[in-house]
Amino acid sequence: MPICDVLLTARGCVGQCVFCAARATYPEQPYRARSPQAVMAEIAELSESFGLHDFFIADDAFTLQPKRALAICDLIIASGLKAHWTCEARVNSMTPDLVHKMRAAGCHQIFYGVETGDPDVMKLIRKGIRLEQVEEVVNFTQAAGIDVMCSFILGFPWDTPQTIGQTIEFAGKLRRMGATWPNRGGPGRGFVTAAFYHLTPLPGTFIFEHASELGLKFLSKNWDHYTMAAPIIETAHLSAADLREWRLRATRSIELERNASPVETVLC
Ligand code: SF4
Repeated sequence: MPICDVLLTARGCVGQCVFCAARATYPEQPYRARSPQAVMAEIAELSESFGLHDFFIADDAFTLQPKRALAICDLIIASGLKAHWTCEARVNSMTPDLVHKMRAAGCHQIFYGVETGDPDVMKLIRKGIRLEQVEEVVNFTQAAGIDVMCSFILGFPWDTPQTIGQTIEFAGKLRRMGATWPNRGGPGRGFVTAAFYHLTPLPGTFIFEHASELGLKFLSKNWDHYTMAAPIIETAHLSAADLREWRLRATRSIELERNASPVETVLC
């Protein structure tokens, strides 16, 4: 089994998403990126000294600067290394050219933070993306043969049973764009799936700092409980039990969309 290394090519983000701590973590300098040459030197070192070719690029948003991402891909391709990697990327920085270059450089899976399937909630969370844009990007990513993982958050202050229902429906729509299970990892289209997490406001985020005026009630201030796998807030519209139930329902709905995938539903 190949060993997968974790690579950091940049840290932080300049996004304004109200639920995310990436910017709050580095208030002085929200985003810092290494040069493509420095990143390539580390990849070459991992390969030559340790035989590592599989890695996860753990940047908050690898493609935040598309030209830098393209330059890193060009260097990997020119090196002739058989790299095999995954990353997290921002929907609004993706183009078909970038996706094809990433595929050629060995990227086999991209994680997109989609967060919600409701257009009004999307505006309120200040993600800076549109649902139509998400559909377009997921479609050209899977068409390039890259697997796609879309992540969604349940329990925004503005979420209701109706908006969560729309999120589940949208996740299913994206799922159906991808290849069916037996073709996963094969040539052609990539696999598309989705994961659902509980809103977990961290200090410094807009939602944490404005929690009470947004109608949120914290169930715990023990940071060990802040795993995103269990609700640590209740909203004006949704209790913790409701949120648990919605996450289960959302995860099961994606499993049903997997077309007889052998993967079992995993809820941690
Ligand atoms: S959610 Fe993603 S795009 Fe938004 S601020 Fe955080 S890292 Fe940036």
